[in-house]
Amino acid sequence: MLLTYQYKLNPTPGQAAIMALWGELLRRHWNYALGQRLDWLRRTRCQIDRCSLVSEPIGEVSEKVDYYTQASDLRTTKELFPEYKDIYSDCQQQNLMRLDKAWKRWLLPDKNGKRGGMPRFKKRGDICSFTFPRVNCPKAGATLTGNTLKLSRIGEMAVVLHRSIPNGFNLKQATILHKADGWYVSLSLEDGTVPEPLPVDAIKSVVGIDVGLEKFLATSDGQAVQIPQFYRKAQKQLARQQRQLSRKQKGSNNYQKQANRVAKLHLHIARQRKDFHYQVAHWLCDLYDLIAFEHLNIKGLARTRLAKSILDAAWGAFLNILQAVAVKRGKWAIEGDARGTSIECSSCGERVEKMLKDRVHSCCCGLVIDRDWNSGINILNRVQRTLGLAFAGCGGLGVALPVKQHFSIVRLEALVTPLCG
Ligand SMILES: [Zn+2]
Repeated sequence: MLLTYQYKLNPTPGQAAIMALWGELLRRHWNYALGQRLDWLRRTRCQIDRCSLVSEPIGEVSEKVDYYTQASDLRTTKELFPEYKDIYSDCQQQNLMRLDKAWKRWLLPDKNGKRGGMPRFKKRGDICSFTFPRVNCPKAGATLTGNTLKLSRIGEMAVVLHRSIPNGFNLKQATILHKADGWYVSLSLEDGTVPEPLPVDAIKSVVGIDVGLEKFLATSDGQAVQIPQFYRKAQKQLARQQRQLSRKQKGSNNYQKQANRVAKLHLHIARQRKDFHYQVAHWLCDLYDLIAFEHLNIKGLARTRLAKSILDAAWGAFLNILQAVAVKRGKWAIEGDARGTSIECSSCGERVEKMLKDRVHSCCCGLVIDRDWNSGINILNRVQRTLGLAFAGCGGLGVALPVKQHFSIVRLEALVTPLCG
């Protein structure tokens, strides 16, 4: 199992300055290396079915640029720009390796035929980070002992170990990164175990969840988690701070200060949201052994008028977190086909057409329940059908009665409400 734990660092001002310099130098090197690759691509790109009269590379065609040529160029870089000599060389290789990964993700489709976006040039002040590929072993650039992190060529600094590193895990990588409120280290931890999911015949409680605009999610047994409106609340504050930023002169000291205030506010909002997502995910895993959720076309939805609510609730991020939490706890989180779940009647299978504004599912068979509740049941039924689970009976109401809520999160409880049906 692979985990990532992030801790705050307490570097001295001198160490912070070195780390900022490294980040900046590696950013420039990234941009140079990306430019080199793009240049090579443009010069050599010529479709194979074109004759040289239509299109052909101009000038001398340079040698193919890849990770190995760029890594061997590091020596020249260090000669031309001596300040690169001070950077721990594994960090520079990692920088190029990261570019290589992004490059391949862009050009080569993965097994689903999907490709990533083009790697971007990084602006000054974009996220600043560098990676030590080895930790706590001979020849490692980073060593963590107790709550002290020793970085090669930077020195020792205190780490705020707000939670201890779990037993049996090895430290694999340490990435140092800068956020609006200071420096952090992300540690990748690995142990040899693979979390075992619950055997299928041991699954006792199941649930289907439907994410919506009105509510954060609705479950197939009639509970809803409301959307916490912290983002909207913080948005007012954000608007005020941003207005102040626009009045400052760009590039001035005061502008920098205000920009940092805005960035911190964004960070705060993102953290609140992530915390909420983890609370909901753990809450679901506490109550149920199998969670069925619908496949969402987030990109498609975000292009519509509902974009703000969708990005606000950030379901995509939530579903990723839910799956990770489920794997870690040995529970099941399974994606179901979402097509027509809000139209189909969960009791008799009849199609009940509705508009977005119709919030209640009312079928001729006598079933009248909240529409998201109906979708939740449908999603659960579909997943159960694909899994061949027999224990759920014919579907419909009363699939799984919620067991007593035994979690201690007061804030989340306030957001969970029963659906009227
Ligand atoms: Zn019906």
